[in-house]
Amino acid sequence: MTSQRVRDRLVERLRENGISDEATLEAIRLVPRHLFIDEALASRAYEDTALPIGHGQTISQPWVVARMTQAVQQVAPRKVLEVGTGSGYQAAVLAALGMEVHTVERIGDLLRQARKRFRSLGIEVRSKHDDGHLGWAEHGPFDAIVVTAAAAAPALVDGLVDQLAVGGRLVAPVAGAGNAQSLLQITRLADGQLEQQVLAPVTFVPLLAGLLD
Ligand code: SAH
Repeated sequence: MTSQRVRDRLVERLRENGISDEATLEAIRLVPRHLFIDEALASRAYEDTALPIGHGQTISQPWVVARMTQAVQQVAPRKVLEVGTGSGYQAAVLAALGMEVHTVERIGDLLRQARKRFRSLGIEVRSKHDDGHLGWAEHGPFDAIVVTAAAAAPALVDGLVDQLAVGGRLVAPVAGAGNAQSLLQITRLADGQLEQQVLAPVTFVPLLAGLLD
């Protein structure tokens, strides 16, 4: 259920659904998603679906991970910030692409589990237990910022946009009317202007304030 064939099938499915960046697809093929979830769910690891990871949170759907990764790949980032470590899977995919990954998580227990996975898989990621709304200014500016929880309003990511390098790109799910959420892409152009684009409708758990153990 976790064999290379099953993973290859997921990659083919992502390709059929519009993911075209080969490096992104290769990273998804390489990172063992089944090791980022509870063993009881491992048989579903290569389905294109979000799965529970405890504390009411989820490991994102592979297509969404791929779409966000592909969006930031386009600016060839060296240093990236992820907000919402969760299982650690998205961070591992970014690290597999050779990016220097920084990730912030507000739930201590999830962060501890993710760190264990990074260690046992030999993945180098800098992480901290904090409210990711604040970004990680000491390590900024970042060439890319990936937010993996939905902001209730676009203004909530303004502080993160400030930590984007020139030429850098942020992708974040932002809530709209009703239950709708859109994946928003913001690029800081060379002249300092910000360019905004909506990439896709998505479903994420909410971006919340404050810390939990
Ligand atoms: N990238 C994760 C997705 C996890 S779901 C993965 O690949 O598994 C989103 C995560 O964002 C949750 O773990 C949630 O606790 C975290 N989160 C929500 N609001 C946050 C905030 N303000 N700062 C940091 N993390 C946050």
